[in-house]
Amino acid sequence: MIKKTVKCGDCNKMLEDDTTQEDPIPCPNCGSIERNVELFSSDEAHAHEKIVLKEKLDGTKKPVRETVSCDELCVTENKWVSKKRIIDRENDRYREKIEDPETGKTYVCDEPLSKYHGHGSAKKLKE
Ligand SMILES: [Zn+2]
Repeated sequence: MIKKTVKCGDCNKMLEDDTTQEDPIPCPNCGSIERNVELFSSDEAHAHEKIVLKEKLDGTKKPVRETVSCDELCVTENKWVSKKRIIDRENDRYREKIEDPETGKTYVCDEPLSKYHGHGSAKKLKE
C-alpha cells in the first residue's frame, strides 16, 4: 500500500494529484505547474520522493518538456529503484535512466519520443 501526497513545487500547497494527467493544472495559489510528490510505503519507514517538472509554452496543448525524478517500486523485482525521465517533445527525445541503488546497475533508454510511443514499457513499473 503506497500513499501519495502532492504539493506545489513552489509554494508547497497541498494539491490534488494531477501528475498522471497529460495537461498539468496550475497551482490555484501561485500558478506553478511544478510538483513535489512524496510516496510513502506502509511497510517501509522512509519516504520516497518524486519531482515532476513540466514546461509549457503559451498556446501549446501539451507540455514541451517533462522531467520526472523519483523512486519507483519496480513490481517485477519488488524493490525500489531510482528513476529519472525526460520527455522532450520539442526535440522528440525520450530519455529514461533507472538505477538500482542496491546493485548499482543502471538501465538507460534514449530514443525518439515518436518511436517510444506505443510500446508502453513504463506501464510495467507501478508507482
Ligand atoms: Zn503553488
